[in-house]
Amino acid sequence: MQRTELAELGEFALIKHLTQALPKHNDTTILGVGDDAAVVAYPPEMQTLLTTDLLLEGIHFDLTYTPLKHLGYKAAIGSFSDIYAMGGHPQQLTASIGVSARFALEDLEELYAGLRLACDRYGVDLVGGDTSASLTGLCISITCLGMVEKGQAILRSGAKPTDLICVSGSLGAAYMGLQLLEREKRVFAGEKEGFNPDFAEREYILERQLKPEARQDILLALRGAGIRPTSMIDSSDGLASELLHIATESGVGVRIYEDRLPIDHETALMAEELHMSTTTVALNGGEDFELIFTVPLAQLDELRTLEGIRIIGHITEASAGCFLVAPDGTELRLIAQGWPQEQAEQA
Ligand code: ADP
Ligand code: MG
Repeated sequence: MQRTELAELGEFALIKHLTQALPKHNDTTILGVGDDAAVVAYPPEMQTLLTTDLLLEGIHFDLTYTPLKHLGYKAAIGSFSDIYAMGGHPQQLTASIGVSARFALEDLEELYAGLRLACDRYGVDLVGGDTSASLTGLCISITCLGMVEKGQAILRSGAKPTDLICVSGSLGAAYMGLQLLEREKRVFAGEKEGFNPDFAEREYILERQLKPEARQDILLALRGAGIRPTSMIDSSDGLASELLHIATESGVGVRIYEDRLPIDHETALMAEELHMSTTTVALNGGEDFELIFTVPLAQLDELRTLEGIRIIGHITEASAGCFLVAPDGTELRLIAQGWPQEQAEQA
């Protein structure tokens, strides 16, 4: 493959190359890349949402098995997911990168192809960023601006006792994808042929790890059904951790049922192969980017009309604590394991 050294281009040519012919999706974008700052303008009935993420090589991603295009896509998706979790619409994105001499222009083209693809799919404008050399590795900082109707942002603090706890999609799949990739990386360490394992019938968990989506569709479906969640969060650190955030911020307790956890077939198979409990994987696996939200019990009928949403339990008084209930009635206290502990420790 061709390799164009970044030093050959210089910073300005590089920025120009990466940001050429960016489309504009939103009327809220007045001016994009090219000046000292971007210009945005939101309608007076809207409030602005702002979220930022920092991704460091070796801590948040491993380029042994993460193609740069996927990394770009996923970086953008993570920030869109935060805006959706507030009940909002992502509008603009900035991407700042620090790159060492190990990376060539062609690598950054891949990264930006992923960022652009995500922006095009979700109708977000890439309006700026910053570019710098780094001593080692790649770091990426993503900032996303979004908007929500005034006073309508869905916070972590609105859950009330008797509310139903709901989850979109399935849980633990991205984590199982990561474990598979980590395992194959160890298998291939030291082999000359490079990283080329057989991933047949593992497509779903790999896709969930390498090419996740943000659940804009769930937000639209809820809106269509006339349901406004009382609280919402996206699952980036695992279900248990996210539910504990809702419990703390809302001053409530949580009761979820083990046999209600949505776990995909491939996730369960992979967990079994790794001698891990599927429940632990579903509770603590990160990066699923699913929406976890609470809905008043009175809206159960509307909720039932929606596909791809599972009711996994309900909100209780704070004094009742936060528990997972097993089919035999055994109660397990929820604890936050957090994520990506393991990756960070290995790095
Ligand atoms: P400044 O010196 O004001 O930081 P730059 O030369 O870094 O300006 O950036 C020029 C323009 O290019 C700005 O609009 C900036 O937002 C944009 N830009 C710089 N780096 C990136 C990047 N990595 N991705 C997207 N836009 C970028
Ligand atoms: Mg700059």
